[in-house]
Amino acid sequence: MEELVERIRAVGKVLPGNVLKVDAFLNHQVDPALMQRIGEEFASRFKNAGVTKIWTVESSGIAPALMTGLALGVPVIFARKHKSVTLKDDLYTAEVYSYTKKVANKISIAKQYVAPDEKVLIIDDFLANGQAVNGLLEIAHQAGVQVVGAGIVIEKAFQPGHQELEAKGIPVVALAKIKSLSNGKVEFEDEEEQ
Ligand code: 5GP
Repeated sequence: MEELVERIRAVGKVLPGNVLKVDAFLNHQVDPALMQRIGEEFASRFKNAGVTKIWTVESSGIAPALMTGLALGVPVIFARKHKSVTLKDDLYTAEVYSYTKKVANKISIAKQYVAPDEKVLIIDDFLANGQAVNGLLEIAHQAGVQVVGAGIVIEKAFQPGHQELEAKGIPVVALAKIKSLSNGKVEFEDEEEQ
């Protein structure tokens, strides 16, 4: 998605440890108009998949997930990272190791919002090693629901997440694919691969 690639070029910052900081439009300040176009792009790419629900993980997946849900006309669930007083029992739970925070989190989705005939589209902000998406796949497995694909805003294609998901039969759509973050520079995959 050209607009997204241009935005990353303009405001993305490379941090040590192969981390791309995009706090200017996605991970802290959020650009709603760009998120809307991202949501519309995911919706058009998955329009024939029969999606009944979007799943993501709080917090940075919520903005693109919400816009995708709006465009497809389906509800959005964000898996919670901490148990809250209003979310106690009857949960599906999986463990996720956070790439950026270097800690393991439990993520949970309430059983009451999952129907057995669901067709789930997973949306997330980044795909690196695939831990976050795998956590959601684990929950889908527990719930016995089908995952029809994963829509990723920014994929770090030099890390193994994409290949591992495809190997599991999950179609992955990434709107910006980064080939390298070496030497503090963002290098994208070729245009035709975007
Ligand atoms: P994974 O679970 O695929 O290893 O990593 C994906 C998750 O880690 C995303 O949900 C995102 O929050 C975070 N993440 C991974 N790499 C980056 C990065 O380069 N920049 C930012 N801002 N977040 C990242």
